Amino acid sequence: MSMKMVELLQSRGVAIDDIIDCVAYLEEGFSGNPLDRKQTEENILEILAKREVEHAIRTGIALDVMAEKGLFEDKLIEDVIVRDESLYGVDEVLAYGICNLYGSIALTNFGYVDRVKPGIIGRLNDAKDGECHTYLDDIVGAITASAASKSAHNR
Ligand code: MG
Repeated sequence: MSMKMVELLQSRGVAIDDIIDCVAYLEEGFSGNPLDRKQTEENILEILAKREVEHAIRTGIALDVMAEKGLFEDKLIEDVIVRDESLYGVDEVLAYGICNLYGSIALTNFGYVDRVKPGIIGRLNDAKDGECHTYLDDIVGAITASAASKSAHNR
């Protein structure tokens, strides 16, 4: 099932390698060793295989796509999502659902990644005109934070 999620993320411009880069950024300084990219990829695929994670990804991307296409009946909230208004916050709440599966380290990592926005997370956040990744940047942040939490617990 995780391959479906890999393809869905890819269709929105996010490669697993981009997420591994974010984990590497987050892990810098925590462990003295360079990140084991193969192990990190396995951790990410395990995260993507969880049903709750799949549902969060599908929901977030569906909302982004609906906002892009102007399909919301409620134009006020559509506009808030398209503009990625800083006080909206529902996108982060959906992403917490992923972090909650991986303990408090995942939650604190998520807060950090959300502030710093490394790599692909920053690129999604600065989405071009016509693209909306209001939910996806947080979902990728949560997957990154959860993968880093998994590797911390495995150390
Ligand atoms: Mg967001």
